[in-house]
Amino acid sequence: MPPKSTYRPDPRMETSGLPLFDRVAAADFPQTILRYRNDRAAASIGLDMSDTEWIAHFGRFQPLPDNLPEPLALRYHGHQFRHYNPDLGDGRGFLFAQMRDGADRLLDLGTKGSGQTPWSRGGDGRLTLKGGVREVLATAYLEALGVNTSKSFSLIETGEDLRRHDEPSPTRSAVLVRLSHSHIRFGTFERLAYVNDRLALGNLTRYVAELYYPELARLEGPDLTHALFDAVLTKTAQLTAQWMCAGFVHGVLNTDNMSLTGESFDYGPYRVLPHYEPGLVAAYFDEGGLYAYARQPDAVFWNLHQLARCLSLIGDSAPLIDSLNAFTDRYQTAMAETFCRRLNIVSQGLEADTALLAAGFKVLETLKPQPRSFEGFFFDWFGGVMSEGRALSGPRAEAYTTDAGLMWRERLKGYTTADPDRLDHPFFTRPDPATLLYDEIEALWAPIADRDDWSLFEAKLAEIDDYRTALALNP
Ligand code: AMP
Ligand code: MG
Repeated sequence: MPPKSTYRPDPRMETSGLPLFDRVAAADFPQTILRYRNDRAAASIGLDMSDTEWIAHFGRFQPLPDNLPEPLALRYHGHQFRHYNPDLGDGRGFLFAQMRDGADRLLDLGTKGSGQTPWSRGGDGRLTLKGGVREVLATAYLEALGVNTSKSFSLIETGEDLRRHDEPSPTRSAVLVRLSHSHIRFGTFERLAYVNDRLALGNLTRYVAELYYPELARLEGPDLTHALFDAVLTKTAQLTAQWMCAGFVHGVLNTDNMSLTGESFDYGPYRVLPHYEPGLVAAYFDEGGLYAYARQPDAVFWNLHQLARCLSLIGDSAPLIDSLNAFTDRYQTAMAETFCRRLNIVSQGLEADTALLAAGFKVLETLKPQPRSFEGFFFDWFGGVMSEGRALSGPRAEAYTTDAGLMWRERLKGYTTADPDRLDHPFFTRPDPATLLYDEIEALWAPIADRDDWSLFEAKLAEIDDYRTALALNP
């Protein structure tokens, strides 16, 4: 591949001196069939290539020019469902490349399903094709809804038969490449704390600050540790608010799935709410409902507590606790901001926005019997009062004339539209938004499984992309 001037390799991890990785090799797959390539994401990092070259890099893992000569499996531990597990790490993935985007931010290309590593233990190191399809859809949809998420970069089917207890087996295999801002997890810090490597904890703190929070890089020692934790806490509170306003249930909010950059990633058994349902649980193995929709802020807070515990080895407890105590406020502020942003209306200050949010969730409760009503509400009222005519003539109109509906409309009167032009998009002549319900994914998977028919998958991605352009929440 002749490198473009916008391709700016910067494989930092390898020269970081941090004890965080092992050099590994990708599996040699019997087949490599390209199923999805994200050309928009590729353009953002200056990668432009033919399908053949694409498969060579993202199915066969030939190194990218001037990038990592060998992939790096990353070491981490983590709390899973609140139990500490030191037997984690990149057991089916690795860091493949690092590069800068147009805004000079460092990005990672990481894999899922690329083969066994020293951390695979009993696992086969593989990803099911259905798992890959689900992750591609999740990232596209969350991006459309303005969630700070990793991007699915590539999905290549790899021609193996996998055995899984949660899918009809044998089932097809794939390798996914994701583009994200770092693969440093809360669990990366937990592992260093577990082995009591304070030197590495300090070095990792500086590495994360320098690369992902450059505004903090002038600080050092415990001051840097405290400031970094505070910044991560804010970012993570914002991400949580984005999930809540997207009706998204991540499903596996373990500390190894929490990024230091506050970016959402690693999508397994997630669900998108069909209607407002506080108790909706995504993972069938989450028997106690620990990661149910409405419990996500608590789960995130608990995870932040674990990160603080690790950082207390190289900082002081009091400022870390001060930050933890600020979580509820930060989360509520983020909820108010995110709610207004999702509705394309101008914030009227925390107090008013919080009251509006409460009125909105009351309407969501009354909408409960209707499918697609969670996203439907945000779709109907996108643009605020300017959309009243549209909302009152749409499929959810009745709920907007109940007491809760009237209260909501009254509150909304105090709000102006942030960007009226967005309502000109033809998507807003539709009665319903794009959704990504469990049954829709099952329905588009069935023809792939039965007769290798990808048309419904392609159509769903096109619909989501149209919705993304209409909402314009994640430029
Ligand atoms: P994940 O579900 O990909 O977030 O993985 C959670 C942990 O289990 C990580 O340490 C993975 O490396 C490991 N893991 C999950 N599936 C496999 C697999 N098929 N082979 C090896 N390790 C796996
Ligand atoms: Mg994971």
